[in-house]
Amino acid sequence: MNKVLNWQLGREMDYPYGACYPDRQFAFVFNINRCIGCQSCTMACKSTWTFSKGQEHMWWANVETKPYGGYPQFWDVKTLALMEQANPGGQTWGGEPGDDARAPYGRYDGITVFEARQALEPTSSRVLGYLPADEEWNAPNIYEDNPVGKRGVRGELGGTGEQLPTHQSWFFYLARICNHCSYPACLAACPRQAIYKRPEDGIVLLDQSECRGYRKCVEACPYKKTMYRGNTRVSEKCIACYPRVEGSDPESGGQPLETRCMTACIGQIRMQGLLRMNEDGTWKEDRQNPIYYMVHVAKVALPLYPQFGTSPNGFYIPPRWVPRAFLRQMFGPGVDQAVERYVSPDRELRAVLQLFRRSNLIIYRYEIEEGPKVYEGTLHGRPVTLYNDTVIAFGRDDQEIFRTTVEEPVHVRPGIHANSI
Ligand code: SF4
Ligand code: SF4
Repeated sequence: MNKVLNWQLGREMDYPYGACYPDRQFAFVFNINRCIGCQSCTMACKSTWTFSKGQEHMWWANVETKPYGGYPQFWDVKTLALMEQANPGGQTWGGEPGDDARAPYGRYDGITVFEARQALEPTSSRVLGYLPADEEWNAPNIYEDNPVGKRGVRGELGGTGEQLPTHQSWFFYLARICNHCSYPACLAACPRQAIYKRPEDGIVLLDQSECRGYRKCVEACPYKKTMYRGNTRVSEKCIACYPRVEGSDPESGGQPLETRCMTACIGQIRMQGLLRMNEDGTWKEDRQNPIYYMVHVAKVALPLYPQFGTSPNGFYIPPRWVPRAFLRQMFGPGVDQAVERYVSPDRELRAVLQLFRRSNLIIYRYEIEEGPKVYEGTLHGRPVTLYNDTVIAFGRDDQEIFRTTVEEPVHVRPGIHANSI
């Protein structure tokens, strides 16, 4: 094992390979607060990449209803239980979230899927994991819309309306794709070295001509985002729509485009970007990149299960109505600060949140032009002032992609169409 810096854990950790980082890293932010569970993203991916014989059970992009749902079923609960078994009572965080980019969430004192496997059986596979049974892949959104009831009892729902800060009955949609991790567990576990991380954009690909279908990657990925195909007897995974990201897709006009699942998003929850990397695996400071801004400056977007240790490049703005303890085990100790900032955004964050899904081109930087004050009042008992600022997005060649305002246009349906589409 080698020592590598995992900034999401605020410490070095063991990894089977030495540190090696791409020039830019594929990353994304999903705002869970906006997801309506329409599955347009799921179907955009399915109809592009996994519509063939033998891929019926495969959903590289899926949206599951938390807390009961999961694809494959109970994937996160099962991996968390294995880690707890390897290190009983020790899976905890220390320190406080702060401004150090090498430890923004404090320090993780528990063990990762790489370290847990060593702790258990040093000579067997390189990563702690499990192979889901065939039937666990059957339903990509099992328990759809099933809420947790009052006092945590399933089916016992509140008779009155719900109120923030957290709801008594709750669920939320968790949209997922491969996280194109900085320390991929799938890659670490493959005995054929069939999985690799591209140096130009950090996209993790699986070479099917090298794969022999041992399914070590399926067992190892804690997010369960590699999948086995029975009729070809090799594994497959999300390819981050790399022709679009490269700008070689016919739709792109030579400019980097966001993936199919991002661009199909009805709820405008998704934004994807390419982040510049330092030699130690941290992100190069890039204040005006919207993904960098949301993760490292506003700190509203957090990694999914950072304690797994793969340094996932998918970040989530946590749902503000969900009990904080649940969110902390899912997104780490930065949750309270993230929800607080999202509920009361400052002027800049309010503008940046308008950048989602105005274009399919990848945004490299943004600028804000200040606009007039349009509202002054209170929200949740706090003073709030709204400015109609203009936020401008720029692409790879620093060309302006679009500009939009904080105040959204209001469309009034004419009386004769009041009850029709
Ligand atoms: S999410 Fe899983 S499949 Fe994707 S790079 Fe990470 S470990 Fe590999
Ligand atoms: S398309 Fe967007 S809003 Fe619809 S389910 Fe997917 S992530 Fe959620």
